[in-house]
Amino acid sequence: MDDVKYGVRNKRGDWAPSAYLDIAPLFALPPRPLAILKWLPGYFLPWNLLFAASAVAYAMFVLPDVEVMKTLSWGWILRLFVVNCIAVFLFYAAFEYRLYMARAQGNRFKYNAKFPNDVKNKAFLFSSQNAEGIIRTFGTGVPIWTAYEVGILFAFANGYAPWLSFPQHPAYLFCLALVVPIFHEFHFFCIHRLIHWPPLYRSVHSVHHHSVNPSPWSSLSMHPVEHLLYFSSSLIHVIIPSNPVLAIYQLHYAGFGAVVGHIGFDKIETSEQAAFDAHAYAHYLHHKYFEVNYGDGLVPLDKLFGTWHDGSPEADARMNARYEKRKARLNAVKAAG
Ligand SMILES: [Zn+2]
Ligand SMILES: [Zn+2]
Repeated sequence: MDDVKYGVRNKRGDWAPSAYLDIAPLFALPPRPLAILKWLPGYFLPWNLLFAASAVAYAMFVLPDVEVMKTLSWGWILRLFVVNCIAVFLFYAAFEYRLYMARAQGNRFKYNAKFPNDVKNKAFLFSSQNAEGIIRTFGTGVPIWTAYEVGILFAFANGYAPWLSFPQHPAYLFCLALVVPIFHEFHFFCIHRLIHWPPLYRSVHSVHHHSVNPSPWSSLSMHPVEHLLYFSSSLIHVIIPSNPVLAIYQLHYAGFGAVVGHIGFDKIETSEQAAFDAHAYAHYLHHKYFEVNYGDGLVPLDKLFGTWHDGSPEADARMNARYEKRKARLNAVKAAG
């Protein structure tokens, strides 16, 4: 496909979409029902539906019987961990292989002209963005994800969490399923904003920001404390009445969904004429500029706090004005001290 029809490429070869990012119309005031209808297909396809489907597949083929989950034993816990590792490997590696190793679409729709693993970078373990990403993903990411999963299933199986069944509460659970991505973003915004607080940024979140030019294995390349915070969104399902499948969906949305913001390409080509939107630009801008887009624009919190960057020159100017203001404030404090 001709990516220049959809965006512009600068002298360095970096590509940017010509359409600026939009906040989802879901919470717009006054309400915009037509805009919501137009936005809905992109909300479900491809990602939300895919992660909901993977949660259903887990319920059907991976989770053991309730009786088994009533006791914590290594058999089912290790099986779950191994399945999670295989699923993450296959999903992440599929994007890594196609876009970064085989380079099936070359530089087309790629935000940053460079391929991060072409250069050695001492910021990373073994000087490799991929090596560090893989070590952190499987070293602490998937183990912590699985630990939440096991704890939640154990709580449901023993009646410690209110378990509603789909045949008895179809409308409520369907609505709750629709809220999973919205809750994810709300929770992510809060913990993400928290770990950008300078002391936590230095000790925890800076690890994730080593990837200034993110690629699939950057997605769960996080400090273990960030993994702990990140996957805690799933705990909502043991607090409010819910169902284990929705708890798994919440975890899949976080675990597999992390790839979405780190693909590094705006569109994924599926043939010479067709492509689907990756929805990666908002989080790409976060990795590029650090202090914008703590969320992805589904919940309008960045807009509310003035940190939304839609890719426009006006957003650049707002961001720079904010930096200047903060620099002046810091200098004033230094001068006074
Ligand atoms: Zn990130
Ligand atoms: Zn961040």
